[in-house]
Amino acid sequence: MFDDRPPDATVHYRHTNAGIRVAVLPATCKVGTHSLRTGGYQARADPNDGVVRISCHQCAEAPDVDHFWVLRTTGAIPDLAELDDDPYRHVVPLMIDPRGRGQLPTPRRTIDAPPR
Ligand SMILES: [Zn+2]
Repeated sequence: MFDDRPPDATVHYRHTNAGIRVAVLPATCKVGTHSLRTGGYQARADPNDGVVRISCHQCAEAPDVDHFWVLRTTGAIPDLAELDDDPYRHVVPLMIDPRGRGQLPTPRRTIDAPPR
């Protein structure tokens, strides 16, 4: 299910008043139709790839939907995470038109490895 697609964005981090580093993850699934807070999600950090993948449980029901974010991580994986769309409002998901709600995803792009 996971592949080597490039990250959609970089994880936004903030620090609490106590100095605790918190990862801020999108609150809406990549397709733009589900609230991860209410619909359920799974966030899995992949230290090897340096990314965290956030999948939407509701989109996962539908086959062949690009339902997970891939966000580049920086530094150590924080102990805390929270959901907030604000840092990601400018992000254009790489494979799904966020305004195309209710439509089928656009065909997969063919940008893979750079030419050698
Ligand atoms: Zn979803």
